[in-house]
This record gives sequence, structure tokens and C-alpha cells, in this order.
Amino acid sequence: MTEPVSVVEVGPRDGLQNECAVLSTEVKLAFVRALAAAGLSRIEVAAFVRPDRVPAMANAAEVAAAANDVVPHASALVPNRRGLDGAIAAGLPSVAVFASATEGFAQANLGQSVDGSLTNFAEVVGQAKQAKLHVRGYISCAFDCPYDGVVDPGQVAAVVERLLGMGCDEIAISDTIGSAVPSTVNSVLSTCAASLPLSATALHLHDTRGAALSCVGTGLAAGVRTFDASAGGFGGCPFAPGAGGNLATEDLVQFLLMEGLDPGVDLEALASATDVVAEALDREPPSKVWRRLRGTSC
Ligand code: MG
Repeated sequence: MTEPVSVVEVGPRDGLQNECAVLSTEVKLAFVRALAAAGLSRIEVAAFVRPDRVPAMANAAEVAAAANDVVPHASALVPNRRGLDGAIAAGLPSVAVFASATEGFAQANLGQSVDGSLTNFAEVVGQAKQAKLHVRGYISCAFDCPYDGVVDPGQVAAVVERLLGMGCDEIAISDTIGSAVPSTVNSVLSTCAASLPLSATALHLHDTRGAALSCVGTGLAAGVRTFDASAGGFGGCPFAPGAGGNLATEDLVQFLLMEGLDPGVDLEALASATDVVAEALDREPPSKVWRRLRGTSC
């Protein structure tokens, strides 16, 4: 394990998007600044989506513009040309589109078929590449879907090929509802391996059933070096019933350190970033490592 590992922090977007409380721009920026100060250089700071569908992302433009000054590689989700224009106006160097492996989730999350959404994203990705942005393509429900059940890895591989073909630089294989286990991670990674280079692969895990870190171990053994996480383990998905919180960044970083891999993140500073959100939401984060650092374990 010699290649560096990197952590993509998705807390300001995935961690907050399911919250009823809409955090102010000031609080979100305090969170992003603290994350950057902890050493996280890739942070997904916002989603340029419809505020009537995802109220927690209503201040995306303000957050993205200001965050871009403090994060080396700030990024935002963009569902369409309008979202991309917002990200470009904010000066972001990186955007992400979000496709689904399944028809049920594509309809729930995007209101389109898988094929229709990919046609739409091809245009957005083409425009983003013209603007010289780094583009990540998420594949939601890569393991199981709350609407369609067990997902055939072949469906994931087909969407991977479409996203790479339209110009995505990185693919985030996403366990939207936190049901992946090492065997299914292996199965999806090996099925995608023919078209998807490991250097362009990220794993996006939710810890709904406590299996996320075991899946990180599987990903590491397979050669994956990029993992998503959300500070404190906040998160969920407004369009995936039963989805739990993201893998906590503290838990991921601690795990990587114990495996002898240094993602360049200061754990204590990271816990302080989580404190900002925990206070704003008035809720203790689920992260085991945050609780250990704060002495709240019982
Ligand atoms: Mg997610």
C-alpha cells in the first residue's frame, strides 16, 4: 500500500442535505473552514439543486463562492446546465453529476429514466469539461436500491462506461443506503474493472448497518485509494428512505491511520469541525471516533 490515500469530505453536502434545519451560510462556511484547517483538501460544499426539493441546500451559491476561497478543491453537485452555471459562477474547479444504477432511484431522485438522465448529464459533463472543470460522476444505489432491490453489478458497469465516455474524470461508486458488504464491494469493483481505472475510482459509503469500514478495507485491498466520508457521520438521502448517515470522516481517518495510511487529516481539528455542525443541529454525531475524542462514550 504505497500510493497515497485521499479522503473526499462530503459533509457540507451529503451530511446536511437530509436535515430539516437549513444551516446559515455563516455556519456552513465555519464548518468548511474548519474542515479545510483539519487538512481536507477536497470538500463537496454544496448542491445546486432545487431548494423546494432539497431545502438544506438553499444557500448553495453563497456557500460555494465563499468556500472556494478556503478549499483547494471545492466541488458541488450539479444536476443540469443551470446548476453547472451556478458552480462556474462560484468559481469552483470541480463539479459532480449523480447518475443512478437503477430505474427506481433515477425516477425518485431525478424524475427521469437512467438513460434519460445520462443523456442529460452527457451535455452537462461536456460543458463542464469545456470549462476545464474536474468532473466526478456518482453512481447511486450501486449495491442495493430502496425501490428496485438488489442491483446487478453489470448495471453499475454499464453506467460507469457511460459516465467515463462522456468525460467524467472520477467515478464514485455509491452505497446510497448503506447495505454494501465486502463481497458485494468486490463484486462491483471486479465487474467495473475492465473499464474503470483504480486511479479514477472512489468509494462512497454510508454506515447504516455498521459495515462501511469493512468495505473500506475491501476497497483498499482491491487498490482503491479515494474514499468519501462526512464529518461526524451526519447524512442520509432525501430520496432514499432508510438511508443512514455517511461513513464518518473521523472513523475513516482513524481506520486509515491504524492501517498505516496517512490521509493528511488532523483528527482533533476534524472533531472540532464536526463540533460546529453538532452545535448547529443540536445533535450528537454518530461517529465513534468523535465520541471517543470528546469523551462521550458510555
Ligand atoms: Mg451519499
